[in-house]
Amino acid sequence: MPDNLTITELLRCNKCGYCQSTCPTYAITLDEANVARGRNALAGALQDGDLESLEALRGPFFDCLLCGACTEACFSAVRTDEIMVRAREAFHEQHGQPFVQRFIFRRLLGHPERLAALLRLAGTGKRTGLSRLFRRLGLLRWINATLEGAEGLVEAVPRHFLRDRLQEVGFRRHRIGRGEELVLPREEGAPLGPRVAYFIGCGTNFQEPRTGEAAIRLLARSGCEVIALPNVCCGLPPYSYGDLDAARELARKNLEMLRRTDAEYIVTDCGSCSRFLKGYAELLEGDPGVAEVAAKVRDWTEVLVDRPLPPPVRSWEGVVTYHDPCHLGRGQGIREAPRRLLTEAAGATLVELPEADWCCGGAGSYNLSHPEMSLAILRRKLDNVAQTGAQTVATACPACLIQLAYGLRRDDSPMQTRHVAEIVAHAQGIELTED
Ligand code: SF4
Ligand code: SF4
Repeated sequence: MPDNLTITELLRCNKCGYCQSTCPTYAITLDEANVARGRNALAGALQDGDLESLEALRGPFFDCLLCGACTEACFSAVRTDEIMVRAREAFHEQHGQPFVQRFIFRRLLGHPERLAALLRLAGTGKRTGLSRLFRRLGLLRWINATLEGAEGLVEAVPRHFLRDRLQEVGFRRHRIGRGEELVLPREEGAPLGPRVAYFIGCGTNFQEPRTGEAAIRLLARSGCEVIALPNVCCGLPPYSYGDLDAARELARKNLEMLRRTDAEYIVTDCGSCSRFLKGYAELLEGDPGVAEVAAKVRDWTEVLVDRPLPPPVRSWEGVVTYHDPCHLGRGQGIREAPRRLLTEAAGATLVELPEADWCCGGAGSYNLSHPEMSLAILRRKLDNVAQTGAQTVATACPACLIQLAYGLRRDDSPMQTRHVAEIVAHAQGIELTED
């Protein structure tokens, strides 16, 4: 790992062990190799060339959630998540990357139309029961274990993704120079607000389109003019798995397009996307315009909380509790905005969730790559959720929504999960498109 960041970060770890109390994987395994101190020691040994083979490090390096809880508890704020990303990159350099994973990162994520076609196929399989049959016959596992996990994780695949619904939501094509853009004007009578470029995250587009519609329509209601960006995946999935080349390729594709937007803010309703987009300045250091683009990025909750909205016209039934997504709460320090949106903009009754910022185990696609560990981490979250007596768990990240909904389904719980945007949209009397 000949990387300055890794060396500097590793040197700052004084082996105090404070991170033990906050690491979700250590809480499950009580294994020193599964906590920041141990992981950093192993990365240090690798750095010094003290290890002959990387194979023994697969578990410690890849079992990390990249949740950042250790960094928050650490006096030196050692960025173990970043060290693990570099360690994974080193691992792939020696062992290679699984074919399907590499194919997804390098051939699919940069082409939303290919991804959409595949997911439509998966949706048909799910609706007709074919995929369940394939799963029972072991065919999905034969193709890829991750595919088998994905089939069970989501209840349904939407018939219409968010990009398919943009016209219905009210976006219109405007010519600009030799190109065109999709624009949703601010609502009639709304106060004059900024022009915002809406970045469509993969989770929102393909799995939670109602969240996206709610977020967009609320921006327009609060006076923003919204442009729907023709973006590709932000690059976080390949980055997390240590494929930094694929992550940079996706980021550069987006950067080229984002540099041309004249919007005041670049906004997304996925806490992971907003954090990763803000980090483009570090990922693509030296690329022209990257610092300016990264400085424009805002999480949707950050923008909406400061925009005026009419008073709520109806209330959300029952009590709501809120789960802090790692990349939003810890990653960006955004904890108050979603809570204020729930209580002030939606008038909801909010009860605090114990350990609200403890990772839910979703961690992007960790629930697919590490189903058992992910479920064990989720158990703690679900037990905390049950303690609140709430009827709804709100959050602000599609990956957390999927994970929480999966856990509640497994528990046969009557509780529901919702993105903050959907709860505020409901309070505002906004009717969302049915699937
Ligand atoms: S990562 Fe931080 S908290 Fe953990 S052992 Fe190192 S210095 Fe201590
Ligand atoms: S990032 Fe999370 S899972 Fe990884 S070592 Fe730190 S606390 Fe543990």
